[in-house]
Amino acid sequence: MSTTTLNAAQGQHTQSMFEAVLARLDAAAKIMNLSEEVSTVLKNPAKQVKVSLPVMMDNGSLKIFNGYRTIHSTHLGPSKGGIRYAMDVNADEVMALAAWMSFKCAVVNLPYGGAKGGIKLDPRAHSVGELERISRAYAVAMKDVFGVNKDIPAPDMGTSGREMAWILDEFNKITATDSPGVITGKPVAVGGSLGREAATGRGVMINTLCALKKLGLKPENVTAVVQGFGNVGSHAARLLAEKGVKIVGIGDHSASYYNEKGIDVAAAIDFASKHNRNLKGFTGATEIKNEELLISKCDVLVPAALQNVITIENAPKIQAKLIVEGANGPTMPEADPILNEKKIICVPDILANSGGVTVSYFEWVQNKASYYWSEEEVNQKHDIKMEEAFENVWANSTEYKVSMRLGAYITALKKLEQGVRLKGHY
Ligand code: NAD
Repeated sequence: MSTTTLNAAQGQHTQSMFEAVLARLDAAAKIMNLSEEVSTVLKNPAKQVKVSLPVMMDNGSLKIFNGYRTIHSTHLGPSKGGIRYAMDVNADEVMALAAWMSFKCAVVNLPYGGAKGGIKLDPRAHSVGELERISRAYAVAMKDVFGVNKDIPAPDMGTSGREMAWILDEFNKITATDSPGVITGKPVAVGGSLGREAATGRGVMINTLCALKKLGLKPENVTAVVQGFGNVGSHAARLLAEKGVKIVGIGDHSASYYNEKGIDVAAAIDFASKHNRNLKGFTGATEIKNEELLISKCDVLVPAALQNVITIENAPKIQAKLIVEGANGPTMPEADPILNEKKIICVPDILANSGGVTVSYFEWVQNKASYYWSEEEVNQKHDIKMEEAFENVWANSTEYKVSMRLGAYITALKKLEQGVRLKGHY
């Protein structure tokens, strides 16, 4: 989504999501005295690919789809990042998401650079057959970009293990290899990792628990609202509820619900699974307007749907003490100072939703070794990595006396700076 945003660092209006990323990079770079040279390298994505995919629709007509892949950096390892299917996918958005992946992998200390891809389409408007042909066409178009030690995609909004399995199959066919590690987030039967599907939601849960501890709050005494009830939102809500947090609000694109006595998350997941993944019609809570969800009464707010949903308009009305960003880029840069002024702690996206890429990394390691771990082992390793990353970010935000968002950028930039310097340039 390309919107007009305010460059928080310089007080200027910018026109793109990528510029919003740069605004935060600039702000962190200034505080930590990052060299101009390193900052310039990180402001320029390494590679941008745009393809046209001609695909036959079920009714016999031919349709062209625009596909994208941006590799932001490879200083810390092969590039890693999801593939998004949505109508607002565009070059600017993909570039911003790719840069976030570089920062995210650096924050969690994974041996990866950052990338992102996407196809401009509405996944709900296509049959399974059409989605399969589009995904396979994308894999063919990206055959020279993807590679197990080069660029490794994963699911993102609008895609899941199903699309990953199609892309894997097509990639292996055209490259005459059997290379499961070229893509992560696969179904377990074709080389996926146990624990991957719920991993991003699990990371949100661990980050929430870490932040609650810093605030001196016990999970069983807090309430939470979760926006988005897809992969990230539904698992985050379920896992938080399992830890004793009372989920009082949930919502997706179809409807939002609130119940101060608590929502039965398992019943909501069951309802959505039987209604084309939509919450509309759920009876376990009162329906509220979608725009009311983020500002409703709660201690913890988890935006886990779209970018740019926390704005200068709704930020002053947010009642939560803690925001844990499940989605990528849910807070507009201009809303950051409002949240800071209200002393709302915000665990930023590049830390809060890094559980997915962390377990993707474990999946890749298991694929390389052809040896698979138990779910318990995956979760244990994930939780340790997430707690370490949280503590590092907390330490940097304390040391530099900045928000957790800037603390996370500083943590990432310290690591990326080493990669850029040590690998050098022409
Ligand atoms: P998904 O497609 O599984 O779910 C998206 C959810 O958002 C759905 O419930 C949808 O109904 C809801 N939604 C869409 N438009 C909405 C609107 N206008 N208002 C309220 N809800 C709306 O996607 P996902 O994988 O859960 O991804 C969600 C976010 O998390 C994205 O920003 C994505 O980039 C980010 N993320 C995902 C992963 C992952 O592993 N899947 C990892 C890191 C970050």
